Amino acid sequence: MSVSKELIEILVCPKCKGELEYINDERGEAFICHACSLVYLVKDNIPIMLIEEALPIKDWEARRGK
Ligand SMILES: [Zn+2]
Repeated sequence: MSVSKELIEILVCPKCKGELEYINDERGEAFICHACSLVYLVKDNIPIMLIEEALPIKDWEARRGK
């Protein structure tokens, strides 16, 4: 199970209302806003589209062991 394609297409960044990049790899799913440098995580197939819950891209990449 993963986030549905329909949902991926309609989701926008809650901060800038811009497009998000959807990531689905071995570390899990996430939506990235490159404009805001924020990563919105997906928990239990539900995207957490809250600015206060978003991770800075740097922290997210550190978490992925990059
Ligand atoms: Zn944004």
